[in-house]
Amino acid sequence: MTSRRGFIRRVLGPAWVGGALLEQSIFRATHARAQSSPGLPELFDIKKIAEGVYMAVAKPQTLINSNAVIFENSRDLLIMDSHSKPSAVVSLVSQLRRRVTEKPVKYIVASHFHWDHAQGLPAYRRIAGHAGIIASETTRKLISQETVPRLKASFEQLKISAEDYKKKAAEAKSAQEKAAWEKMRRETGDYLREMENFTPELPDLTLTDDLIIHDKSHDLHLAFRGRGHTAGDVVVFCPQKKVIATGDLLHGFFPFIGDGFPLDWPRTLLNVAQFDFTQIAGGHGDLSPRQRVYQMGNYIEEVTEAVARGRNAGKSRERLEAEITPATLKTVADGDFGGATAHAILELRLLPPTNPTPASVLTEAVKTNVGHIWAALDRNS
Ligand SMILES: [Zn+2]
Repeated sequence: MTSRRGFIRRVLGPAWVGGALLEQSIFRATHARAQSSPGLPELFDIKKIAEGVYMAVAKPQTLINSNAVIFENSRDLLIMDSHSKPSAVVSLVSQLRRRVTEKPVKYIVASHFHWDHAQGLPAYRRIAGHAGIIASETTRKLISQETVPRLKASFEQLKISAEDYKKKAAEAKSAQEKAAWEKMRRETGDYLREMENFTPELPDLTLTDDLIIHDKSHDLHLAFRGRGHTAGDVVVFCPQKKVIATGDLLHGFFPFIGDGFPLDWPRTLLNVAQFDFTQIAGGHGDLSPRQRVYQMGNYIEEVTEAVARGRNAGKSRERLEAEITPATLKTVADGDFGGATAHAILELRLLPPTNPTPASVLTEAVKTNVGHIWAALDRNS
């Protein structure tokens, strides 16, 4: 027990460690993994994107982690998003403390309620007990309503996937393929074990439209500008550094529209574009340039119009999923949106065995968006 305490203290620093927290399963899980490797797993590539602003780009994992964006205030930190599991937060914070700064976390922002952005919140409550967890009022409500039922529902599917990975590993034709399937099975099993007795942590500070944090180093403008990826997405804009952290409202990948509001989303993005930023640090993938805000808005608008037109003409969801393709969409065929996004998604792919091409990724992404928009049109109207 002494060595575990010593290990965690060494990694996180004494200020972060209370006695009770050693009992927490998150630390036990991380510690067990750490025993077989020299340190905690490094789940993020952390890079400086402006003076006092860092982006932690999540490395590929079977169960996806969101990125984090770290704003370094004069005496403390504001961190946007908390990944898919508490141990990912422990990993991020230890990387920050070793590589960036020992300043304490004062604020954590949940950009939206999704599992891959908010399931790490309990770790911040334990590591940084006095920090404020901020979200929109809507996101707070959605975390409390949706997190547990969705997580429970995912367990069944994940157990089936883990069995499937095991079978595929046994049938693998090369050592490389076998290792890839085994990595997926191991990561899925670790996640299931860690999340088994999970209790979500709710934000304790909420905003409706705006909240501005005035720090000696810079201002941080938290804002809700309309429905988009979810009903409650919040962005964090720093006017002095011209950086905006956007969660999944705006990032380097195809949008996920399963809980989205495609009729509102493009307008929400134009509202966000009122902020004078040059760099976008989104929830997945790498940093994006300012024009991404228009590329993504135009894409969502074009697909949504095509789906609505088809529905009005009496076409079925299945027929539209087949008819609306990368080739029929101007924003994908002629614009920068398609190519850049397909490559970004490909970079995340773990598996040599499935070996997707950019074209197949693109086709699948558009098809998924068409289906989700079809369902969302009922929700929107
Ligand atoms: Zn996400």
